[in-house]
Amino acid sequence: MTIPIKTRFAPSPTGLMHLGNVRTALFNALYAYHQGGIFLLRIEDTDVERSQDDFAAQLMADLRWLGLPWQEGPVEGGPADCYYQSQRGDIYAKYYAQLAQQELVYPCFCSPPELALSRKIQRASGQAPRYAGTCAHLTPADIAAKLAKGLSPALRFRVPKAQQIEFTDLVRGHQNFASQDLGDFIVQRADGTAAFFFCNAVDDALMGVTHVLRGEDHLANTPRQLLILQALGLPMPQYGHISLILGHDGTPLSKRNGSQSVQELRTQGWLAEGLVNYLARLGHTYPTDHYFSLTELAQEFSLDRLGRAPARFDESQLRHWQQIAVNTVEENRLWEWMETAVSPLVTPQTRTEFMVAVRPNILYPSEAGQWAKILLTDELTWQPEALAVITETGPAFFQQALTSLEETQADYKPLVAHLKQTTGTKGKSLFMPLRAALTGETHGPEMAHLLSLMGIDRARRRLQEACLIAK
Ligand code: GLU
Repeated sequence: MTIPIKTRFAPSPTGLMHLGNVRTALFNALYAYHQGGIFLLRIEDTDVERSQDDFAAQLMADLRWLGLPWQEGPVEGGPADCYYQSQRGDIYAKYYAQLAQQELVYPCFCSPPELALSRKIQRASGQAPRYAGTCAHLTPADIAAKLAKGLSPALRFRVPKAQQIEFTDLVRGHQNFASQDLGDFIVQRADGTAAFFFCNAVDDALMGVTHVLRGEDHLANTPRQLLILQALGLPMPQYGHISLILGHDGTPLSKRNGSQSVQELRTQGWLAEGLVNYLARLGHTYPTDHYFSLTELAQEFSLDRLGRAPARFDESQLRHWQQIAVNTVEENRLWEWMETAVSPLVTPQTRTEFMVAVRPNILYPSEAGQWAKILLTDELTWQPEALAVITETGPAFFQQALTSLEETQADYKPLVAHLKQTTGTKGKSLFMPLRAALTGETHGPEMAHLLSLMGIDRARRRLQEACLIAK
């Protein structure tokens, strides 16, 4: 029997979800969907000081908004019962006991300032900082004395000496680490909570995770996690470390160089469909640059296409995918996206026509809002370029346009034909003044739609105003 593929997203709810972790979640989801496997969500909230329930709730809302449902995890449930690490203390206790029995962990009483000093000394002598082993050989009497003083120890994993830890990374190929470079590391914090190396690895094993795709910044953690799993006799997932996303300035993407939270992106009006099309191509290549649905993105997703080179975030690419998404998503979806910006001006009767009209010309809901205002209210801000066109054209043209408007009852095609015949103008000299007068803009959606949406009365008032402006 083959084991089903299970991937996971294991965020720490210490902040809002940013582009880097969106892409990590996306790759894990796409790989699971591609394989007909399970995408699991686990909330890594053992750091009580930094974790917040609100962030966990927001993370889940963000994943849903992105269209990345998880099949196992909070809300959905699953065989593990609990997918919040803060509530898995009893499970971890059993594995700490096992490590203690094997004498693979020891209490460490070093304080943060002592550890910082030790690292400073190591750095100063050109060594890579790692735990110096101060508490590695305390006698039971030493330990008892420290405990009697009321000190709470952390628990460190005793890294075996002179061992090579090898594994094949799904993205980076063969990896080899020397255990003596690792230093004994903390598996349980002094406050009794489980530390990342430990609970992250143990949970992957207990939850049956088969593949872990995560940021390259975790590569050096993997040998430590493999040592824990090996010591506990637990199964090891396959790890793939994906390249980081860099900002436009070539440094890792952060708030400073353009990274935004999903919430911010959503508020700015980015469509999830465009965002995932872009991010799925950041550090992963697709054979074509077609816009894909999530199912198609999953179908074509392959670990072989994950790149090792850092990927650079480029907002113009995101805009490119946004444009396609705006032009592609279903009507209901488009409405949901722009509704707040255009309500109550766009009514159920004009909704379809309005969306057909503006879709090719907008990138954000705010632009839909501007068109709604131009077409469906009398507040018009004449753009300087439009005013220039109107003045240059002169009033006679607009007088004639008024006649054509009445003659044709604002039916665009006959109106243009009539105006062409009566004024002798054609092409740009006809369309541009007409557009400028009717919309106050020199660019925009197709005029036939615009005229129909604004209706004859508003069109008449605009042409009359253009006559006055042109005089
Ligand atoms: N909680 C860890 C983080 O957010 C998970 C790392 C991992 O994917 O293993 O960085």
